[in-house]
Amino acid sequence: MPSFWRESPGQLDNHRSTESLPALADILIIGGGFAGASIVTHLLRHPSYQLSRPSTLILEARQVCSGATGRNGGHLKPDSYAGIATLAQRHGVKAAAEVADFESANLAAVTEFIRQEKIDCDFVVTWAVDVQFHEKHQNRLREGYESLVEAGVESTKATFCAPDHYAEQLSGVKGAKGMFSYTAGHIWPYKLIHHLFQEAILQGVNLQTNTPAISISRNNREDFLWSVDTPRGKVQAKKVILATNAYTSSLLPEYVDKIIPYRGTVAHIKTPGVPPFLPNTYSLRFSDWDFDYLIPRPDGSIIVGGGRQAYLKDMSQWYGNTDDSKPIDRTREYFDGYMQKHFHGWEDSGAYVSDIWTGIMGYSSDRLPRVGPIPNRQDMYIMAGFTGHGMPQVFLCAKGIAKMVLEGGSFKETGLPALFEESQERLDNPRNMVHEIHHAASSCAKL
Ligand SMILES: Cc1cc2nc3c(=O)[nH]c(=O)nc-3n(C[C@H](O)[C@H](O)[C@H](O)COP(=O)(O)OP(=O)(O)OC[C@H]3O[C@@H](n4cnc5c(N)ncnc54)[C@H](O)[C@@H]3O)c2cc1C
Repeated sequence: MPSFWRESPGQLDNHRSTESLPALADILIIGGGFAGASIVTHLLRHPSYQLSRPSTLILEARQVCSGATGRNGGHLKPDSYAGIATLAQRHGVKAAAEVADFESANLAAVTEFIRQEKIDCDFVVTWAVDVQFHEKHQNRLREGYESLVEAGVESTKATFCAPDHYAEQLSGVKGAKGMFSYTAGHIWPYKLIHHLFQEAILQGVNLQTNTPAISISRNNREDFLWSVDTPRGKVQAKKVILATNAYTSSLLPEYVDKIIPYRGTVAHIKTPGVPPFLPNTYSLRFSDWDFDYLIPRPDGSIIVGGGRQAYLKDMSQWYGNTDDSKPIDRTREYFDGYMQKHFHGWEDSGAYVSDIWTGIMGYSSDRLPRVGPIPNRQDMYIMAGFTGHGMPQVFLCAKGIAKMVLEGGSFKETGLPALFEESQERLDNPRNMVHEIHHAASSCAKL
């Protein structure tokens, strides 16, 4: 089904740079979303690419930016304290701080890139306002926040925790019991990705849309190690990069239950007249597993994602579900009257759901992105599993991938957060934290 962002697709939507599929590629990227587009962008900017000019091919199963990136909320919101505090508990403050600072560096890098390239993609830098509805939840988040501030984590220090008794007045959200605010961005994702591919094609990169990779096998040759089958023929490649998000396990069996397709929903809310002014982006948190996020468009309409309480208990609606052809049951009803219910000043706005769509996220079983060389697969790399939170992570992860692919260096040398590195240990870990979300929802654990 279409999404708001894909209502007027660009000229590259069904692009094929050459009529037939090239038989050989030095670098093959599979996936044409934010990950694929960012990887090719950073490859092209790497000095050794410009010297050696490797042939680069991108395979996209459907249209350009038709996966999660073309269906998301467009919220570029670096986490600075919430998930980060959980990471600190689990992996230590140093590792968590790396992730927090990396995410805010991503926002800065995307901002700078868009400014320099003058990309028309409705990009806005603003404040994110996170609201909790339960005191206990707020207290727990504040504790985590304070310990990160105490440890000196820079991006947490740049986050404001409002006095609880002002949360409702400062946020404008009815019944708010606590509030944090910090810098975030929002964007028209399709326009950015389309621009990145346009630039890449101008520089000689071959993009083949509507060309799914069906399988990957090892060649007997020493140079072109990998052979990728598609319905349009076979490509042999020296290096393969999987930017296949939720669909990774259809190509590599080791990713079954490691990157899990997770169907999510986003709606577009409009008003018949001039909407009440909403200056920030918002997250409304009802519990750890149950939250919505809102992004005001420059025209005052609202993009809102989440709605988990409408469907999360029914696992078949989301877990392992890749059907983005129809809305998730009960979500339209959930978002009907949403602004009137939650925001002061919207009661008489007449706000209504003008559009609703689904998209498929790639949830990692340990809830961390998977980036780097794939164990036991020489010259094959992964950049996927962004767990519904790729917008403040993908761009600079791609810079790291480009460095590894072109320089042959190690993950460590990229400076990417250590927790993101793909490893055999992570692949062998039987824990499935995505199941745990369902258990929390089923037991209605509020906090
Ligand atoms: C409903 C929804 C709301 C979201 N909201 C936000 C948000 O507000 N903020 C945020 O940070 N993140 C959000 N996310 C997550 C974010 O969109 C993703 O983390 C990010 O877009 C991932 O980019 P990607 O390129 O890895 O994946 P995708 O955009 O899914 O791209 C992967 C591409 O690979 C292609 N592909 C897969 N397998 C093959 C194959 N075998 N052959 C060829 N091509 C293949 C797919 O067709 C797809 O186009 C949301 C996601 C969804 C679904």
